[in-house]
Amino acid sequence: MTIPLESTGPTMKDYSSRNICTWCDGCGDYGIWTAVKRTLVEMKISPHEALLCYDVGCHGNMSDKLGGYRMHGLHGRVIPFAAGAKLANPKLKVMAFGGDGASFSEGIGHLVHAIRSHYPIVFVLHNNGNYGLTTGQASALTVKNQPMNTSPNGIPEETLNSMDFIFSLEPTFVARTFSGDIAQMTYVLKEALKHRGFAFIDILQACPTYNRFATHRMLLEKCADLEAEGHNPADFKKARELAVNTAKRISTGILFRREDIPNFYERLVPRQGKTTTPVEEVEKFDVTELMREFV
Ligand code: SF4
Ligand code: MG
Repeated sequence: MTIPLESTGPTMKDYSSRNICTWCDGCGDYGIWTAVKRTLVEMKISPHEALLCYDVGCHGNMSDKLGGYRMHGLHGRVIPFAAGAKLANPKLKVMAFGGDGASFSEGIGHLVHAIRSHYPIVFVLHNNGNYGLTTGQASALTVKNQPMNTSPNGIPEETLNSMDFIFSLEPTFVARTFSGDIAQMTYVLKEALKHRGFAFIDILQACPTYNRFATHRMLLEKCADLEAEGHNPADFKKARELAVNTAKRISTGILFRREDIPNFYERLVPRQGKTTTPVEEVEKFDVTELMREFV
């Protein structure tokens, strides 16, 4: 007997795909993929109620390994189309996934403006410290002097301090977790989906094939859950300090959160008092003639 989704909520099967995963053995994408599905199922978000947006990168191959609405866009451009979809249909839960290469190079402008605009979406950074899909080039977040495939002597540039940069933009939700901790990733993703505006999640991701400096074992040994230590996520100064200081330990969990800032949609004067969404409002217009101009 088939039990209708409405009475029970979705199951992991509803988010499954027949496509076979092609990530390397031990890749952190497997854990993140599982945590994303688990989050949506545990929050009783059905596939038609969510939109999962992917940038280009190894993580982007997740876009056809899941059920539901998904979009796979151009390198570094995941935030604009995720934000656009959310603003058109605010009823959707929208998550955008990007790698450290794209998000902190081509896509960095979008990240800056997403935080200052406070778009109500979740952004998940797959942070494996290199361009994995293109066989291990150094990204802006690769540790300085780390030998990589195309830079055996290390790169001459300084490593971008991504967390200090994010905190300099006055974000309203910042979390960090790692790809080996499915329970913590699920918790963080759930909290991010409940956030009022732009939620930034840094997932430190093992890339056993090309990242030989942040291995699964190293992350396992260095990551420490802030929640167990009673960290107050309302304390911006402390959160920034914990986020930036990673030499001895890497603090994970919800680093900073505030819910008193209206998001982009809430600030739009023409949307105030509206009970319908923009997609519902355009439905009544017949665009057949207009579309003919483009075929
Ligand atoms: Fe994962 Fe790295 Fe392999 Fe890409 S190259 S699939 S990130 S382990
Ligand atoms: Mg990467």
